Amino acid sequence: MITPSSSRTGVSNAQIIAPGATLGVLGSGQLGRMFTIAARRMGYRVHTFSPDQDTPTGQVADREVTAPYEDLDALRAFARDVSVVTFEFENVPSEAVHALDGIVPVRPSGAALYTAQQRGREKAFLSERGFPTVPFARAATRAELEAGVASIGTPIVLKSVAFGYDGKGQHKIMRPGEAERAWNALGKNEILIEKFVSLQAEISVIAARGLDGVVAEYPPFENRHSNHILDLTTAPALVPAPIAARAREIARAILEALDYVGILCVEFFVTTDGDLLVNELAPRPHNSGHLTFDAAVTSQFEQQVRAICGLPLGSTELLRPAAMANLLGDLWSEGEPNWAAACRYPDVKLHLYGKTQPRPGRKMGHLTATARTVQEAQDIVVAARDALLS
Ligand code: AMP
Repeated sequence: MITPSSSRTGVSNAQIIAPGATLGVLGSGQLGRMFTIAARRMGYRVHTFSPDQDTPTGQVADREVTAPYEDLDALRAFARDVSVVTFEFENVPSEAVHALDGIVPVRPSGAALYTAQQRGREKAFLSERGFPTVPFARAATRAELEAGVASIGTPIVLKSVAFGYDGKGQHKIMRPGEAERAWNALGKNEILIEKFVSLQAEISVIAARGLDGVVAEYPPFENRHSNHILDLTTAPALVPAPIAARAREIARAILEALDYVGILCVEFFVTTDGDLLVNELAPRPHNSGHLTFDAAVTSQFEQQVRAICGLPLGSTELLRPAAMANLLGDLWSEGEPNWAAACRYPDVKLHLYGKTQPRPGRKMGHLTATARTVQEAQDIVVAARDALLS
């Protein structure tokens, strides 16, 4: 017999935001674009708010509002037209989130966003709650820098606490004497001093928590970076089963601890010593989850729609092993990539984000391949990406 899953507490009908309603997204990049595609497929309307025009999200949304995040009146007017607000970009000023209070539900909440949007607060939350992280210290003055470097011991990585992603605002230090110059380069702002650990693998667990408190997580995915930017994701991660189980358990516990509603990505380090450490949190869909669009029963974007609308979560089962390769602006250096050559691989899906300016390092799109094995999927997606330059 086929039975629907039962939810723990249930969500009352009054709390459900049903298809036909309008969802609001702060931010307008590719994550919002894919969220919008998933939402529209389910019959929702979507409005997007950001300072930009003709954006990846705006191109597919019902309405694109262009205003700075500091324009609180514009934000309030945006909020009055939608049934719920979510994020595709977490570096929204907290005043902007507060401006929505009392007008419309914000999911994930401003409090969860506040914790996860800044490295310093995020690390403090993780260590206070006993989640495993690399040894770290915070420093805002030269004296704290010296004390932190001495207590952690080189090699270390200095990271600016705020607004860092894709390796921006980071310096690796091999000797204590190099720390001050790196700190100066980071603008003498508040930093995190992290032990540099030797990595066996980097994995991520993308998990959602519904309005009823039910959590559903995907199996861990494995991520490879190039120049600090995600290059390749493979799924499922080929790590020992106890590590995969533990990563899923930690991700679930983090969502519970944050009383989270929506989708969250937990990035982990697996060290060469076999330790599993939380690197960082992303309070939104994540680049490593793009392959769920083509390779899972429910994509991370549909899951976000379900979670913020009070609907039951969908299955996180993978349909087939998969691999995703990012397409950065560098691929355009010799002109338009050869799209037909990549599409000659029948198991490859092409995703482009509608960006017209292909700058080096800019995420322009991605390819996903599904296959019988992870290795096969990886080989296909890499070959298809190479073919773009043929
Ligand atoms: P992050 O922006 O903190 O995710 O860092 C970007 C990448 O730098 C990570 O995905 C790792 O590959 C590497 N990295 C960052 N911090 C450390 C660390 N403490 N030890 C080793 N590698 C690191």
